Amino acid sequence: MPHPRNQTTADALAEAREQYAAKRPRSRAAFEAASTSMPGGNTRTTLHHGPFPPSIVKGEGATLTDADGHAYVNLLGEYTAGVFGHTHPVIRRAIDRALDNGVNLGAQTAHEGTLAALVCERFPAVEKVRFTNSGTEANLMAIATARHVTKRTHVMVMKGGYHGGLLYFAGGPAPINAPYPFVFGTYNDAATTRDVIRAHAAELACVLVEPMMGSSGCIPGDRAFLAMLREETTAAGAHLIFDEVMTSRFGRGGAQKLFELTPDLCSFGKWIGGGMSFGAFGGRADLMDLYDPTKPGHLPHAGTFNNNVLTMCAGIAAMSEVFTADVAEALHARGDRLRADLNAVCARHNVAVQVTGIGSLLHLHPVEGPIRAPADLARGDEAMRELLYFDLLERGFYMGRRGFIALTLALTVGDLARFVAAFDDVLGTRRALLARRHGS
Ligand code: PLP
Repeated sequence: MPHPRNQTTADALAEAREQYAAKRPRSRAAFEAASTSMPGGNTRTTLHHGPFPPSIVKGEGATLTDADGHAYVNLLGEYTAGVFGHTHPVIRRAIDRALDNGVNLGAQTAHEGTLAALVCERFPAVEKVRFTNSGTEANLMAIATARHVTKRTHVMVMKGGYHGGLLYFAGGPAPINAPYPFVFGTYNDAATTRDVIRAHAAELACVLVEPMMGSSGCIPGDRAFLAMLREETTAAGAHLIFDEVMTSRFGRGGAQKLFELTPDLCSFGKWIGGGMSFGAFGGRADLMDLYDPTKPGHLPHAGTFNNNVLTMCAGIAAMSEVFTADVAEALHARGDRLRADLNAVCARHNVAVQVTGIGSLLHLHPVEGPIRAPADLARGDEAMRELLYFDLLERGFYMGRRGFIALTLALTVGDLARFVAAFDDVLGTRRALLARRHGS
């Protein structure tokens, strides 16, 4: 290996990958065994990375342990669903109680009404809500509702956006996407996006947007941009759908409360089910009432697991006892402080790295200059992204391979202080590779 001073990012990454693999023979064996029956040993693309991902055998509090005995502070937080940590006692008790009364009841219970009331109470735009099994399904239902009501076909999403497995637009629409005619806005570019909405006004059923793009890099939306979407969709007779699958953890009532904007419909997922499989779509009562089965001509919305008791009971405990509005607000503030601390480290090293996001959702980017839309991330170096991931993993911190972090309640003040110190150490070590190209 070349001397660190003369190393390229590619050399450093090759070395980091080699060291990673050498220390994880059991994870490699698990990966190879799984590869005989699953393509690439994987059933969830976002968790794969080369040469093979760590095989996790246990989660406790905020700690993950892999099959090779390495412990990691978990900063990924199950891509926002795991805000409670791995073993929250209140959630555990709620699930135990549900199990005591039996699962797969195939009948209505009081639980779904209780959880629905909690969701309506927390999120100002939600007058009524229905449950699904995932955020993807919630978005598909919201889109289907808008297309039915408006009698129009087209769906606007943002370039580079992500709304689930069948609504994947990073690097252009995925070939397996739901077959809707899509038109594309440019995030935070009000003039361009307004023109596209106006050009398609006659056929546009809805605009589906995240108030902060989450998986696409924790890119905050400008309030003015989001307000423009509200105005233009109203003018065009189209629906505005906020995808709050990730952002629902913001503050006291999700991004809709934070930005004080009211979409027609919104979609939810992740943490609201207390860590169990979850999705929901909700919003204006006149739209949601189309699904009222007591009304003639109602729309069907079925789903075997929509009201499964494990999710309903874990969700009730999560919303009413664990991640209350006060707790959500405190975690939000904690995330804002951590982002400021990490960005101060970047500034001190004078390197081309920055940390974006809002509240408890953060993203590390080896990118110089403003990040206002996913296209801005192309200025970054993918190899450097991966190197930062391996460097932090080596120091005992687990995050998304692309740099995504979702804080959990299980993380201690000490965990976060150690993370800032590890980040500082990584930037110091890789300083030569991370030098700014355009001066400071
Ligand atoms: N929408 C957003 C913004 C998401 O981040 C995700 C998942 O990460 C989804 C939708 C899809 O949710 P699920 O994975 O539950 O289908």
